[in-house]
Amino acid sequence: MLDKQQGARLANLWDEAKVTGMSEPEKLLYRSNLLGSDKRITNYGGGNTSAKVMEKDPLTGEMVEVLWVKGSGGDVGTIKLDGFATLYMDKLRALKGIYRGVEFEDEIVGYLPHCTFNLNPRAASIDTPLHAYVPKTHVDHMHPDAIIAIAASQNSKELTQQIFGDEIGWLPWKRPGYELGLWLEKFCLENPKARGVVLESHGLFTWGDTAKEAYETTIEIINRAIAWFEAENTAPAFGGAVKPALDSAERAAIAKRLMPIIRGLISAAEKKVGHFDDSQAVLDFVTSKNLEPLAALGTSCPDHFLRTKIRPLVVDFDPANPDIEKTVAGLSEAIVAYRADYAAYYERCKRADSPAMRDPNAVVYLVPGVGMITFAKDKATARISGEFYVNAINVMRGASGVSTYVGLPEQEAFDIEYWLLEEAKLQRMPKPKSLAGRIALVTGGAGGIGKATANRLMQEGACVVLADIDETALEAAQTELAGRYGKDFVRSVNMNVTSEAAVEAGFGDALLAFGGLDILVSNAGLASSAAIEDTTLALWSKNIDILTTGYFLVSREAFRIFRNQKAGGNVVFVASKNGLAASPGASAYCTAKAAEIHLARCLALEGASAQIRVNVVNPDAVLRGSKIWTGEWKEQRAAAYKMDVDDLEAHYRERSMLKLSVFPEDIAEAIYFLASDMSAKSTGNIVNVDAGNAQSFTR
Ligand SMILES: [Zn+2]
Repeated sequence: MLDKQQGARLANLWDEAKVTGMSEPEKLLYRSNLLGSDKRITNYGGGNTSAKVMEKDPLTGEMVEVLWVKGSGGDVGTIKLDGFATLYMDKLRALKGIYRGVEFEDEIVGYLPHCTFNLNPRAASIDTPLHAYVPKTHVDHMHPDAIIAIAASQNSKELTQQIFGDEIGWLPWKRPGYELGLWLEKFCLENPKARGVVLESHGLFTWGDTAKEAYETTIEIINRAIAWFEAENTAPAFGGAVKPALDSAERAAIAKRLMPIIRGLISAAEKKVGHFDDSQAVLDFVTSKNLEPLAALGTSCPDHFLRTKIRPLVVDFDPANPDIEKTVAGLSEAIVAYRADYAAYYERCKRADSPAMRDPNAVVYLVPGVGMITFAKDKATARISGEFYVNAINVMRGASGVSTYVGLPEQEAFDIEYWLLEEAKLQRMPKPKSLAGRIALVTGGAGGIGKATANRLMQEGACVVLADIDETALEAAQTELAGRYGKDFVRSVNMNVTSEAAVEAGFGDALLAFGGLDILVSNAGLASSAAIEDTTLALWSKNIDILTTGYFLVSREAFRIFRNQKAGGNVVFVASKNGLAASPGASAYCTAKAAEIHLARCLALEGASAQIRVNVVNPDAVLRGSKIWTGEWKEQRAAAYKMDVDDLEAHYRERSMLKLSVFPEDIAEAIYFLASDMSAKSTGNIVNVDAGNAQSFTR
């Protein structure tokens, strides 16, 4: 049986009222977004759509035929009109005159820009000739799990014939490119009644005379495949379950334990971010009899393969007799063996002009009874790689249930992975940001300095976990930062830093969210003001609890993770000018802040041999955006200086040597410096960001 998600039929979402009055390119966009809105129809970034439209040439004023086709690197679900490339059909046809044969097909890519209509800057993709040469007005190319399950079956040609008769044709595996475009054209001319074609090990082409007809054909063909599998694929999935699935809390606990260790072992060249998936589709696979043999076959569709590497690594873990320490002890050897296998594959398949071997580490880690962990250069890529492997699992479920599943032949897989055009695309990618792949946890993350710090770190590509006790502010901060940098980059945890259990749980959530930790910014705080004889024990303890014990608890947890992960670490304490300079009427606060600074120095000493750096930023009088500076403390300080609260900011400015106000962004900049490799050789240091205060000069 297919799983619930794959088993349900696709709905026809076409709404004629919505398309009334739309131009053809707008209808193409509407259809593309509808198709891409369902991952059963096509995976993220996979597949493409096109329409051939008559338009007025901007130079001659004559009507010409223009191909609108999804451009390079887009996603049909989220594409906008500017995501389509536009090309003159007569020029695309003229390419046949210069084509020198299949061994030179890649050179045609260089001619595609010569076919551009209306100076459209959107680059045409490698699939452009496939759409151009299908002699139909509206063409869809999708990667539906149910169709790829047919395409990846050993007898896919017979299955296609059996399910669709003459309506849908079949073409043997051929890497996408110019030649495949010619094959499609030939097929259509020889089979004028066909409504589409299955491409072996790849996906589906369908077409129609109108946008609506193309859309409805695509949905109908996929639904027919889904229905056929529902009827035919009745054997237990993947040979049946032979191992138990752990319960949800146990699965999370195992993932939290494994992720930072795997991350440390594979992040030597480039820091990676992780993603954990224990959805039902994954659990069915990782508890099954055929997990190991099927995983070893690798994926089929080239899109799946490019995202997930040649094959996943199956972690040695027995959910029936869980021994996590044994699994942990064996990880290093398993990862080294995977890398050796990958290097051997590279050596076997490389060609004279192949690019140098890329990162040999696995992307997908399957843990029996637990789920799937994926690691990539950033969170979005790790998440999407996981989604692709779920597509691959769905494909294997279908194909292995009705036939024999076949992965892509190794040399074909290699030629796609190390395709010179793919390499050129990688070379064109912008240089990674300075904190790309780094994971930070910021306490007091919803407040002024904390949020400014999260913002600064995210600006440099870091993933950030905001930790705070103010649920409302936390939600607002996460929403704001997600809106600016993308949902994948930010998570939040409710954390009372004085609670041992809450700190442990919060860091655990961070590990599950991103797979590890590189940076701790300990910033959660409060401030109080009272003469010593009026300082209650409760007030004294509150300062010590939050500022000293809180900093201790979060540092201890970070150190434990850093030592497990074995990839160094970075701690930045936000202390205070008052940690160095005594201030009247605030002895509890000043003492706790001084303890923080000394704690940082002790930790710098302890962490150095493990490449864990610990440094301090000392702000002074950061009023703007601060939750500390609202209410009581502000009034207490104003009273202590015998002035109006509104005059405080000016008072502090005038008191500073530089006569400047200090803002959260100024503190965030110093934190970023200490958290980044710019300060790689600094530990045990204090950076004052206080606009100058002679009393707090370090000595
Ligand atoms: Zn494709």
